[in-house]
Amino acid sequence: MSDGSGFAPIEPAGDLGDLTSPGAVLRERGQREVFCGLTGIVWLHRKIQDAFFLVVGSRTCAHLIQSAAGVMVFAEPRFATAIMEERDLAGLADANEELDRIVDRLLARRPDIKLLFLVGSCPSEVIKLDLSRAAGRLNARHSPTVRVLNYSGSGIETTFTQGEDACLASLVPEAPVSDSATPELLVVGALPDIVEDQFQRLFAQMGLGQVAFFPPRRAGAIPAIGPNTRFLLAQPFLTDTTRALEGRGAVRLSAQFPFGAEGTTNWFAAAAKAFGVSPKRFDEAIGPARARAQRALEPLRTELQDRSIFFFPDSQLEPCLARFLSQELGMRPLEVGSPYLNQELLGPDLAALPRETVISEGQDVDRQLDRCRAQKPDLVVCGLGLANPLEREGMATKWSIELVFSPVHGFDCAADLANLFARPLRRRAALKV
Ligand code: SF4
Repeated sequence: MSDGSGFAPIEPAGDLGDLTSPGAVLRERGQREVFCGLTGIVWLHRKIQDAFFLVVGSRTCAHLIQSAAGVMVFAEPRFATAIMEERDLAGLADANEELDRIVDRLLARRPDIKLLFLVGSCPSEVIKLDLSRAAGRLNARHSPTVRVLNYSGSGIETTFTQGEDACLASLVPEAPVSDSATPELLVVGALPDIVEDQFQRLFAQMGLGQVAFFPPRRAGAIPAIGPNTRFLLAQPFLTDTTRALEGRGAVRLSAQFPFGAEGTTNWFAAAAKAFGVSPKRFDEAIGPARARAQRALEPLRTELQDRSIFFFPDSQLEPCLARFLSQELGMRPLEVGSPYLNQELLGPDLAALPRETVISEGQDVDRQLDRCRAQKPDLVVCGLGLANPLEREGMATKWSIELVFSPVHGFDCAADLANLFARPLRRRAALKV
């Protein structure tokens, strides 16, 4: 519901006119500057080590993932693009045959591939190439050695991190059925292995030894899911995956996302509560890591306190990052833009944002740029396309893509995360000197 000004309430009852009222959100639709969902392949191919991502797309798609991922020198690449030529666009039958041939060749050459994702793109979508049928056909041919799945990373359907959501949602039906009689914990969202190991250690210290992670590191290790699965999201952009898990009877544990000392504590506390960990055991397990993170953040708080920040929509991490920066470092988020706002998943983070922060969903980039220029924030978080022009106008910027490619979750990364925001401010201060 909207009053035509672009402003709409988060809750059914809200004040449309007053942006500073709790729960108000600015919704915009217009030209946007966001990567497509293919980008997720850059981190997903590192995570599931025997998976392969075959983009069915154009040369543009191939350039995007190659330049984003860089050239893999030490390993056989785990992604490629089946480039659709103009003649493919003329006939779907030819395109399907060509795709089958490419997949046959790839799998014959690469016996290490156990899970193949056919990833849809704008061109495959435009010609209505049915990749789910193609996946079914190829599955019948290559099963059980290789499982073939499909999802869309197209810029028409997805932004940036939605590619991971689509990928993980397609993986949920592959999970075996859990018939566990007692609750089991599942952490959902691709995390760097190093962060996953840190989380695993802390869960073990809390007395939760049997924690599974989704996606798994190997295709054959997809954790079982069922009504006794309790899951904690590690990433806020997993709306479809959440729905798919809930469809299997799993129950989501609501918490702030694990950024910074407090967000991470809140996240672990949700698991502690669900699994009946005593406050004493919880403090003993989490306390030292939390205290270490708080100490590491202290000097950064001095540096970042009271500095204003403006987020353009990009990764959907924006509301939880803004929560971290305001609650733990004293920064002032002026506007927090996100391509989509899942208020249910982000509820605990949104509730901790300062009252005066404007939350926006979607984008009309020109109008948003006007608002940003008018407010002159100390730091702007935005995509690559906006960063250079804004730097030229004298603003300090942070490329949002770095926040997705760097390890930023958990206690041990809290100071690194804060440093990602402090660095551009230091650089600009040095330039002024
Ligand atoms: Fe561009 Fe679409 Fe390919 Fe993404 S999927 S690189 S937006 S053509």
